[in-house]
Amino acid sequence: MSGWLWRYDGFDPRWEGVRETLCALGNGRFVTRGSAPEAHADDVHYPGTYAAGVFNRLADERSGRRIENESIVNLPDWQSLTFRAEDGDWVDLATSTVHHYVQELDLHRGILTRRFRIEDAAGRRTAVAQRRAVSMADPYLACLDATFVAENWSGVLIVRSGIDGRVTNSGVPRYRGLADTHLVVAGGEQIDDDIVGLTAETTQSHIQVSLAARQRVLLNDKLVKVERGLVAEDGYIGHDIPLDLQRGGRYTVEKVVALYTSRDRAITEPSRAAQDKVRRAPGLPDLLARHVLAWDHLWERCDLRISGHERANRVLHLHLFHLLQTLSAHSVDLDVGIPARGLHGEAYRGHIFWDDAFVFSYLNLRMPELSRSLLLYRWRRLPQAREAAREIGCRGAMFPWQSGSDGREETQTLHLNPRSGRWNRDNSHLQRHINADIAYNTWQYYEATGDTDFLAQHGAEIIFEIAKFWSSLASYDRATDRFDLRGVIGPDDYHDGYPWRDEPGIDNNAYTNVMVVWVLIHALECVKVLPDRRRGELLDLLDITREELERWEHLSRKMRLCWHDEGILSQFEGYERLEEFPWADYTARYGDISRLDRILEAEGESPNRYRLAKQADVLMLFYVLSADELGQIIGRLGYRYEPRLIPGNIDYYLRRTSHGSTLSKVVHAWLLARRDRRRAWDYFLQALDSDVADAQGGTAREGIHLGAMAGTVDLLQRAFTGIETRDGKLWLDPCLPDDLHSLAFRLNYREHHGVEVTVTQDRLVIGGRRRARGPLLLRVRGRDYRVDPGATRMVPLDRAEPAGE
Ligand code: BGC
Repeated sequence: MSGWLWRYDGFDPRWEGVRETLCALGNGRFVTRGSAPEAHADDVHYPGTYAAGVFNRLADERSGRRIENESIVNLPDWQSLTFRAEDGDWVDLATSTVHHYVQELDLHRGILTRRFRIEDAAGRRTAVAQRRAVSMADPYLACLDATFVAENWSGVLIVRSGIDGRVTNSGVPRYRGLADTHLVVAGGEQIDDDIVGLTAETTQSHIQVSLAARQRVLLNDKLVKVERGLVAEDGYIGHDIPLDLQRGGRYTVEKVVALYTSRDRAITEPSRAAQDKVRRAPGLPDLLARHVLAWDHLWERCDLRISGHERANRVLHLHLFHLLQTLSAHSVDLDVGIPARGLHGEAYRGHIFWDDAFVFSYLNLRMPELSRSLLLYRWRRLPQAREAAREIGCRGAMFPWQSGSDGREETQTLHLNPRSGRWNRDNSHLQRHINADIAYNTWQYYEATGDTDFLAQHGAEIIFEIAKFWSSLASYDRATDRFDLRGVIGPDDYHDGYPWRDEPGIDNNAYTNVMVVWVLIHALECVKVLPDRRRGELLDLLDITREELERWEHLSRKMRLCWHDEGILSQFEGYERLEEFPWADYTARYGDISRLDRILEAEGESPNRYRLAKQADVLMLFYVLSADELGQIIGRLGYRYEPRLIPGNIDYYLRRTSHGSTLSKVVHAWLLARRDRRRAWDYFLQALDSDVADAQGGTAREGIHLGAMAGTVDLLQRAFTGIETRDGKLWLDPCLPDDLHSLAFRLNYREHHGVEVTVTQDRLVIGGRRRARGPLLLRVRGRDYRVDPGATRMVPLDRAEPAGE
């Protein structure tokens, strides 16, 4: 099982929050943090369960302004289970003597175990072993068992186990002080002798959440009946279960939990559904067996293996594990997007940003049905996006920077700088580039799958409405015969304005402008590939006239790009007027300067003065687009494109980036993959550490960084193999880092399912058991190949490549 075990030895309160995030269990419908079942929310622990799409809004007043926030809601704690000797105190690891504490996450089987020996003040030593899972087979079920062995004593151990609805959203210190109570517990009840249930409702969105727990006792693995006491407190329902521990006897409390919400389908109401579900649920061994089988299938389809670097392989599996727990086949029907911090904590309130861009390319080639449903999340929110565009005087649709339940702009208007204690204006909603990213994702899905039906029914509408938005936002400058996009913010949100201008936003952000051109080119392409009838219908319904199409064409040739220092693509207009930042000075003073925005604001300064970036901005272009595509766009715009533009810009901006976002390392590893394999590998390893080493200093306990996790997987999949899906062919140009011996995975490309790809330092092997009708068309390092169904093709990667066919 090497490469599949994620293990912690010893209990370390300082790292417990991070461990809870990294040991979270989920199934794409809900995720539960890997907190100790006996723990309550405090400075060390933070139990949390979040169901995809369960949001609620609360309002506050700050600095004389009303602020409203929508948050993913922390649901009742189903894990809650504690114990004590009959005459002792409830267990508390912090104040007890604990031996041999081990927490182990089996990534292949999706099971979290925890083992320790605890000794109380009277010297009684009890061995405890717990297992937990959130079922990947049945998305409504979770389970936990706790086994107790009295090692040097006999007597009664009381286990208190139940459902705790006394939870709030208080996982992010920066949000404390804002309203945090999203749930009202309607009540808890005893359903059967061994079943309790609890129902709560969100205060504003009125989503009902019901949990039922079946709690049974086993003595040496055989079910036994034990008289138990009902514990019904305000917001809590559970049982006190006395276990008559005899030396050598092994008692297990088995808890099977069902979780339903009123958003679920095919139910009459959540509490009835939850009760029925646990009543009929199998015992834990069967439940786990089916869960493990579901994971087996998932790994068969989704695994990506590397050899040559044991730790990287393990972290990679951890990243895949959390990606597949946040988004799975069980998410398909839920009308949800891709939450930037997973469903693992409360950072960014469960919102959906542009991080999708780092996730789709993996999903498109593994679970296209999931990609489709995630794009539908955007499509259903077109009405809100149209309204948002209208409100700023534009046409088409303008998607929000942060999105939640109904697709309105959820970006906070004020944010707290924990360094200065000040609440400042948050202008990041001006990151309009998300609209280019959404159109890009939509087209990429189509490219990877050839799903014309989706394009015709939904995708084209998203792309056209976004194209309309950009065309109405752009203003034409007759004097220079160029179009401008003013008052936006690029991916680097440290620059939210000019030092010399009062209103927020910068002009002509290079990333935004180039991506807008890309969108317009593809919107025009989309018009061509739509079936005739649908094309006519859509253009008519969306009021896209011939003049509008001409404007797209015109804009796609006349968008402004700004340049400075001979061949450096300016991050935005006026960039060259900014001062160089004294990097060495600040590094010496502060050490970690990734959050320069906070450091400078606390000094009464602003990043807007300097040539610095939080994360890749201009450089994102080289991540998202191939050199060919970028060259074509720059040429189309009438600027001179020289191949040295890319290395020149990479060097320039790399030196000016503070990596204040975990996405940044992923992008930089990508950019260097072909130029400097050693540095690329270093960045890759740093990106792998984003969460496991809590690289952003305290943010990993608030949720995973899903974009960075998926990004590291995507780096292997695409950067090191050069995979692209273009013009009905699979393009490959492998280039493994020296530290890797091999990289292997399966992918689905259009009608070719389960294509096996193995890359070593000197060869590419592709093919496998595929049952497609036609051949798989490949283009490897500029040469064409065809692989017949069922056949395998080996392409040497040394200089003497065989001629293509
Ligand atoms: C980054 C954004 C990202 C967001 C959510 C921010 O810190 O600057 O690019 O979308 O986090 O992950």
